[in-house]
Amino acid sequence: MTLSNDDRKIIENSIRDIKDFPKEGIVFKDITTLLNDKKAYGILMQHLHDRYKSYNLDYIAGIDARGFIFGAALAQMLGLGFVPIRKKGKLPYTTISEKYALEYGVDEIEVHIDAFGEEKGAKVLIIDDLIATGGTANAAATLVNQTGAECVECCFIIGLTFLDGIEKLEEKTEVYSLIEVD
Ligand code: AMP
Repeated sequence: MTLSNDDRKIIENSIRDIKDFPKEGIVFKDITTLLNDKKAYGILMQHLHDRYKSYNLDYIAGIDARGFIFGAALAQMLGLGFVPIRKKGKLPYTTISEKYALEYGVDEIEVHIDAFGEEKGAKVLIIDDLIATGGTANAAATLVNQTGAECVECCFIIGLTFLDGIEKLEEKTEVYSLIEVD
């Protein structure tokens, strides 16, 4: 299911660039302006629904925190359950966790051990707003697979192609990014 160039432009134009946030040299892709634009947000969610309705998915997993917004809406549209993959220390039940490297230091995300049901092999789509180095999404895919479920694809609204995050993640799973920024 492809997105027309006109629709892609509408989504792209609704995303705001904030220079030097959170620190100098970073161009932060602000998706709050996309969410605020009912036309762009509607086109985006309809496209994701059309793409994934034939995937036979069991769950949508969203990455903390902007992945929750798109993931929870998509899960509801597809009639599926939603699973939050959270930063360490936020989930109340038994979790498994995975560390990943940041530019300076490490971070850790986790998921509830029983999030994808009792039967093994649940098909899971992971979603986040943006892929940069791919560290977060790689850790998320590892976690999903460790629970006994299967990450069938990682979906991003924005992919930063000047980093090799997408290529690295493609060694582990399928990757789809709507808007590629170079
Ligand atoms: P990474 O693990 O390097 O792929 O970073 C991805 C995570 O960091 C995602 O959850 C993004 O929301 C966030 N992120 C990284 N770079 C940016 C950026 N330039 N603009 C907005 N969010 C970013």
